[in-house]
Amino acid sequence: MYKWKKNYQGNRHFQAQDTKSNFRLPQVFQCLPNARTELRDSSFSIFSRSYFVTSSVDSQPIGKINISSEKLDEVNEILRKLQPIADVNYESMENSLFKMNFLEKRTITMDQKMDFFHEKLEQKSDIDYELFLENNKRYEDPLFMKMYEKRKNLPSFQKRNQIVKMIQENQVVLISGETGCGKTTQVPQFLLDDYVSSYKGSACKIICTQPRRISAVSVAERVARERGEVLGISVGYQIRLERVLPRKYGSILFVTNGIVIRLMESDPSLNNISHLIIDEIHERDIHSDFLLTLVKQVITRRKDLKVILMSATLNEKRFKEYFDGCTHVEIKGFSHPVEEYYLEDVLERLNFTFAPSMARTDSIERNTMIFRHNVVPYVQDLRAENSYSEKVCRELLKPHSEEINLDLIHQLTMHICRNEGPGAILIFVTGYDDINRLFNLFYELPEEEYMIIALHSEIPMEDQKFVFEPSPSGVRKIILATNIAETSITIDDVVYVIDSGWAKIKVFDPKTNTENLQPRFISKANAIQRKGRAGRLMAGKCFHLYTRARFEAFYEYQRPEILRCRLESMMLQMKFLQLGKVKVFFNKMLDKPDAKIVEAACHLLNELGALDEEEALTPLGYYLAKLPIAPQLGKMLLLGVIFSCLEPILNIAVSLDYKSPFNLTLKSNSRIPQLDPKMAEFAENVKSDHLLLHKALHLYQTFDKATRSVFCKEYNINKTVMKMLKKMKVEFMENLFALELVTTTDLKHKDLNINSKNVELIKSIVCGGLYPNIMLACTLSGQPKTFFKTLNDTKVVLHKKSILSYDRFFTCPLLVFYIKMKTKMDMVFDATVCSPFPVIFFGTNLRTTKAMNEHCLVVNHKLRFSCDKNASSIVEQLRERLQHYITYRLTHPASMKSDVEDKFLKIVVDLLASRGS
Ligand code: ADP
Ligand code: MG
Repeated sequence: MYKWKKNYQGNRHFQAQDTKSNFRLPQVFQCLPNARTELRDSSFSIFSRSYFVTSSVDSQPIGKINISSEKLDEVNEILRKLQPIADVNYESMENSLFKMNFLEKRTITMDQKMDFFHEKLEQKSDIDYELFLENNKRYEDPLFMKMYEKRKNLPSFQKRNQIVKMIQENQVVLISGETGCGKTTQVPQFLLDDYVSSYKGSACKIICTQPRRISAVSVAERVARERGEVLGISVGYQIRLERVLPRKYGSILFVTNGIVIRLMESDPSLNNISHLIIDEIHERDIHSDFLLTLVKQVITRRKDLKVILMSATLNEKRFKEYFDGCTHVEIKGFSHPVEEYYLEDVLERLNFTFAPSMARTDSIERNTMIFRHNVVPYVQDLRAENSYSEKVCRELLKPHSEEINLDLIHQLTMHICRNEGPGAILIFVTGYDDINRLFNLFYELPEEEYMIIALHSEIPMEDQKFVFEPSPSGVRKIILATNIAETSITIDDVVYVIDSGWAKIKVFDPKTNTENLQPRFISKANAIQRKGRAGRLMAGKCFHLYTRARFEAFYEYQRPEILRCRLESMMLQMKFLQLGKVKVFFNKMLDKPDAKIVEAACHLLNELGALDEEEALTPLGYYLAKLPIAPQLGKMLLLGVIFSCLEPILNIAVSLDYKSPFNLTLKSNSRIPQLDPKMAEFAENVKSDHLLLHKALHLYQTFDKATRSVFCKEYNINKTVMKMLKKMKVEFMENLFALELVTTTDLKHKDLNINSKNVELIKSIVCGGLYPNIMLACTLSGQPKTFFKTLNDTKVVLHKKSILSYDRFFTCPLLVFYIKMKTKMDMVFDATVCSPFPVIFFGTNLRTTKAMNEHCLVVNHKLRFSCDKNASSIVEQLRERLQHYITYRLTHPASMKSDVEDKFLKIVVDLLASRGS
């Protein structure tokens, strides 16, 4: 058995295995309160179980707040004991590490900061000499020489001297060339070797950025090998959560774009590096665009910093113009001719019939329109010309003919294996699910003849390394990949490419405030890149699974990510980098985002309390910018610290930020909606998707390795995701520790988890973080399904992945959610029922009103709770106190809590935990 296969089997969440284990869940979570008893005891009562929520303030109250008179007395007493609230004046705060850093962010600009930093890479002659000798020695190493001979054949090597000279003479150089011509692996080495051989090695520190984690690591490993070294000497990498750093001088560090941006928070002019190579700029991911704009500012101050932009041969003109006509070197690659086939040709070859199917993407109007106006007339012409059989024309006229069809891909692959010459087959699909399902289709193939490799950022690197190795003779290599194999990774022995025509891309709709990855048709540029992968070593063939007419209608290029994604995190980062007003900065970018998206992001950051009216960072905003997590989840985390329920909250926050560890089970659509029985067993008594995430992570960490595997199989939990989440938790504990918010990095420490068993409080903290993602349940009599309305009046439904989607009535109609996506309709994927107090305490714009002789507390003009006059005034005071207290805790992270504060917090905890379902 080949090593790769063994390795792969070790990590087979791909394979649906029927394990009959005796595994049982421990009963730790059985103590969750029963919703019905809770309701009976609750003094918060609901008027009616059927709601229709309208947006007007005059609408029916959602519920009634009753606080017992003893409780009110207790609250009053504590309020009296607390110091009067003073205006927040950041300047007069007690001195602390926080104060120093925070004030710097508010008062100094990046430009001013650049003037303060003068530390430079210093040239040291003894090191120069050492590096020189070290480099010369390489040529005595036969392994190095073997690779060196290969490298010399790369097209980039022919341009070596020109590239080095251009960079010596110019500050910014753009290098473009066909994928695989040797930009990423060679250019950094040309520069380093040039410095070393001219006795300047100590003054050379190269950073090369990559858009993806996997390419940063694989390129670093490759370059180290080419230099006859292991990682950590002259070559290293740094990506989030993983790094092997090289020495500080005479070295090359591969990183993701985001890492350089983070680096600039402490070293804005990148004083410690001599060369910055920004690779794959044609991909136009949001970080790469951001970095380009930052660098454009830096080079005006750091005249000695060399900037090298590298791109596949795509739209180079735009980048050249953006950098004021910078010098451009083009590496002409050599590639073999690739024959292209389209869907019509493939159908003719295979005699394939599309099964009747529900179109997956008919909601995308453009696709349907192009089908009607371009594809149908094209097929009619084919029919008239008799160029393809009648059957092919009939199949092409099925509206779902150009959608991803895994059976077609499978049959085509087998057809190539049987009828074409040797060579690896590279298949482009949209994502993990497609890869997973195809993998299962190919699983029966004998491993003596086939080598199946999946290439995806979530599959452990170990399992993907074999992708570069040529397969033994007689063994066909089949690679299942996403667009990662389009430009960042080159596999030489590919001769056949199957291009499904689809890729998952991020799409953001400010109107409904939804962002998600959606399968979309690729652009012409992607199709050309995919085709090019087939002609590396010899003439190849590319099979596009869409018609020629569809290709003609593709966009020229994919739209840059910045135009189609959320901007909150980026805006916080801009603030942290002290870049001034966001709109001004956006105007300097290669493409500026839609004003509506900017507006939506500003609004959310204001609502969260991260930016003030002047768009300056608040203490909360400072932390949110510092923590590498989406702002709402960062806020949840901070509340988790303040309210001492950190473990559950961190479990929830990381899974929402990264992804849920539960694999989506694909079941046939049964008529009666019901939860997957395994999930139902796991979720017993847990009436919240968020608490369920906590339960999964919590249990996983208490088990030993063997039990973990059984547990993951039993409940269809993705082990790779679990491992990533575990790493993220460690990272966040280190972050919180560095910010002095916690005094230990032990997440399980009792001081951080005093309230971690208080389920109702945890739900309230989830609500505090996720606000304003609130929705109200609207169950209409006679209607089988509950629908919901969000605060901006969008009607949404709960996805069947949510364990609450099978409930018709809720003890309280208020729910919080995090992920909302637009499919045919707006869909929410996760929810927790919350009580009124967290909304009142953490929501925005609390007012009291009086209508029809009834006092009401109104949150955000929409959420009304009736409450008697006395109680409402106390609640208002408490809320003000609480907000003040939170700010105090954030601005004095290391200070001790007083007894009165402890008592105050206990009262708030009691109220937050007192009601709900
Ligand atoms: P470019 O950046 O121009 O697309 P690269 O520098 O990434 O090209 O790759 C140059 C060549 O090096 C590729 O054609 C491939 O043959 C080889 N190569 C790159 N990475 C690896 C790897 N990890 N293992 C084996 N060969 C590799
Ligand atoms: Mg490259």
